[in-house]
Amino acid sequence: MLPAMISVEEARSRILAYFYQIEPETRPLLDALGQTLAEDITATFNIPPLTNTAMDGYAVRAADTTGASEAEPVVLRVTGEVAAGYIYDGEVESGSAVRIMTGAPIPEGADAVVPFEETDETGMQAPHAAGRLNGRVQVFKPAALGANLREAGEDIAAGQRVMDRGTLLGASQLGVIASVGRDRVTVTRRPRVAVLSTGDELLQPGEARRPGKIYDSNLTSLSALITEFGGVPVPLGVARDNVEDLTTKIRQALDTDMVVTSAGVSRGDFDIVKLVLAREGDVDFWTVNMRPGKPLAFGGLRAGSRLVPHIGLPGNPVSSMIAFEIFGRPAIFTMLGRRDWERPRIRATTSDRISMVDGRRFYARCVISRRNGGYDAVLTGSQGSGILSGLARANGLAVVPEGHPDVEAGGEVDVMLLGAPSVGA
Ligand code: AMP
Ligand code: MG
Repeated sequence: MLPAMISVEEARSRILAYFYQIEPETRPLLDALGQTLAEDITATFNIPPLTNTAMDGYAVRAADTTGASEAEPVVLRVTGEVAAGYIYDGEVESGSAVRIMTGAPIPEGADAVVPFEETDETGMQAPHAAGRLNGRVQVFKPAALGANLREAGEDIAAGQRVMDRGTLLGASQLGVIASVGRDRVTVTRRPRVAVLSTGDELLQPGEARRPGKIYDSNLTSLSALITEFGGVPVPLGVARDNVEDLTTKIRQALDTDMVVTSAGVSRGDFDIVKLVLAREGDVDFWTVNMRPGKPLAFGGLRAGSRLVPHIGLPGNPVSSMIAFEIFGRPAIFTMLGRRDWERPRIRATTSDRISMVDGRRFYARCVISRRNGGYDAVLTGSQGSGILSGLARANGLAVVPEGHPDVEAGGEVDVMLLGAPSVGA
């Protein structure tokens, strides 16, 4: 008997009930790229720590420069200079200036910086412009109070929380953590996800072709999705369609955080899979109201006192990838402590008629491009669940709801973006 049909949302919430955030680990900063922050980051000091100059120039008292012009420059005494990384030992008194380099803290008494370009020191000067020290500088423009200063704490104030747990760490986030002086960071460990293909027909890429056999694409595509979603794939190869081999391979998967299998959940091989999964744990077989991706197995595999969640995906290459997008991505994100698994959605005008073969929610593979300020969707040709080359060309999935009639060409559809829209006419 076929299992009762459940909705995509029902299937997803039953699956997510099995997942929780896994434990944190502390890693060197660069090794944490792409991981999820598992602590809040708080600054204990101001950044920048001291008010400093944004330009190379002269630290002055703004009031001294009032009325300065090319015709009537203000002349100031140069009493010294200061480079980034040093504190000037002295004060800028009225009528004087200190030569200053970008990033150097502002000397006492100064309240503005006049860039070299607004003085008679232009172009490349001899290092340290030694002749100028204890000499004079002409200022050609009045400086406003605070001109070219970067205030202490203007980036991050002492005590401020700068990043929340759950943040995905990219280059700028890691840079901020470095700027508060940290060389290590606590992130959620990447979940290890076992991937197992099943089927007597499967060859591994690199093996010689044989009649009746096909290359296993699911092991590669699903492993790659696991990496993209933030996990670590543990590819276990192929289990043949017999109880012994499937049992052996399933048992090899049990030291992971999650097991993903493909194929064997539709009618043909169903009995073997059902028998093995029932012996190794609890399993449910579902008919999900979606196309592609209808048959799905879900349950827990017994690993000592632990149950390892298992998603049994359909075998067809497009079905397995789309079902993993819809169910596997939120599962991995949940283990990472992230909730932002929904893809960006847009409305697009379809150039093609989208035929609804049956009443199931349809994820149609399409190419999305920008056009006339809106978006245009073009189907990638045949929508068969074995046409992986079509999915490979697609940057979006048009989602047509359950029970919807065919969408006519020129009609509007909801699209989940898998990649950036191309730039159209
Ligand atoms: P099944 O779910 O075992 O009935 O498989 C459905 C279809 O998907 C069949 O045409 C299989 O040959 C194909 N298939 C199953 N597993 C894979 C795989 N790992 N790579 C490519 N095609 C597969
Ligand atoms: Mg099979």
